[in-house]
Amino acid sequence: MRLIHGAASDVGLVRTQNEDSYLVGPGVFAVCDGMGGALAGEVASETACRHLMQLHPETDSADKLVDAVRRANAEIFARSLGEPALAGMGTTLTAAMRQGDTLVFAHVGDSRAYLLRAGRLQQLTEDHSLVAELVRQGRITPQEAAVHPHRSVITRALGTEQEVPPDLVSVPLQVGDRIVICSDGVSGLVPDEQIGQVLAAVPDPEAAARSLVAEAIARGGDDNATAVVVFVVDNDDQTVEPAQDMCFGPQRRDERLSAGGYRGAAVRAAEAVRGRLRRLRSRRVWARRARPPRKVMGAVVVVAILLIAVVGFAVFNSSVYHVGTSGDAVVLYRGLPLTVLGVRLFTPVEQANVPYSHLKPYERERVDSHELRTQEEGRQFLRSLESAS
Ligand code: MG
Repeated sequence: MRLIHGAASDVGLVRTQNEDSYLVGPGVFAVCDGMGGALAGEVASETACRHLMQLHPETDSADKLVDAVRRANAEIFARSLGEPALAGMGTTLTAAMRQGDTLVFAHVGDSRAYLLRAGRLQQLTEDHSLVAELVRQGRITPQEAAVHPHRSVITRALGTEQEVPPDLVSVPLQVGDRIVICSDGVSGLVPDEQIGQVLAAVPDPEAAARSLVAEAIARGGDDNATAVVVFVVDNDDQTVEPAQDMCFGPQRRDERLSAGGYRGAAVRAAEAVRGRLRRLRSRRVWARRARPPRKVMGAVVVVAILLIAVVGFAVFNSSVYHVGTSGDAVVLYRGLPLTVLGVRLFTPVEQANVPYSHLKPYERERVDSHELRTQEEGRQFLRSLESAS
């Protein structure tokens, strides 16, 4: 059997830096998701990949893989303590090394490895994360974990302690197996079902890696997204001619390892994806700008409500009447007996033929009460005052 591979990585739509690193080469595959301020996360994830690059897959035993992880941890931990700019840095590591017809995985953190075999997707690694622990304890469901506010909190990371033992998983390979190693920027956004569908549908690992990263971007791209994909094919299977160079990413030209062959087709393809994603991103920015900002929407709603209130009040005010005085005249007014900011809300409609000074005390009281009436009631009240005098 033969292993063919592809990789893609993108900074995503929210982060300003890509702190993920990956490694793909004959017999060694890894994704490391760095964390820490400024450049520290990148340093941590790259350091881990550099140690893995020193492996000799076919001749090294699984112990050598564990050794490489241990050395990576020691270096990251020492630099994190010794260099203030790198304080607190760390990285996840999910690595696979080929041993004959078996892949040996070493795993720390919440990056993931999946195996698609016979149409079924299986997660090979267990997340070292707070939410995964809560799920294992039965305190939350996997569905709750997927949207949990602390889902990015990891419980084990390289570089955070003196000794960080990796989980080890051995997977005997079968022709047709498809494997993906990805950072949580992919697995946290793309549902397992869809990861399985992409792996099953695409013709080659390069396209699969690109599709998975593009899918993560399309679903919000809130984290660096990295995918390394490996297909297990027959020795004489010539249907796919994949990238086989060793390569190390993400693709920062100045940081690329200088030994020959690292800049493989995978890098070129990944760069093409980055261009496409950048265009996708600029479309998204435009779409976001085209939508009115929330504050403006809020102001529009408030103005609309005020307008409705004012119109409603005006309609009500023009439907009520009251009787009052103007000098010595008794007048039927339309509107409430109110003056707001110097503006009278009432207008005269009709004047009684009898002056206020001629009214009896109880009649004056009724006029002074400014009782609200209909127009008809107001007119009748004026007539009753006139006939009584
Ligand atoms: Mg991440």
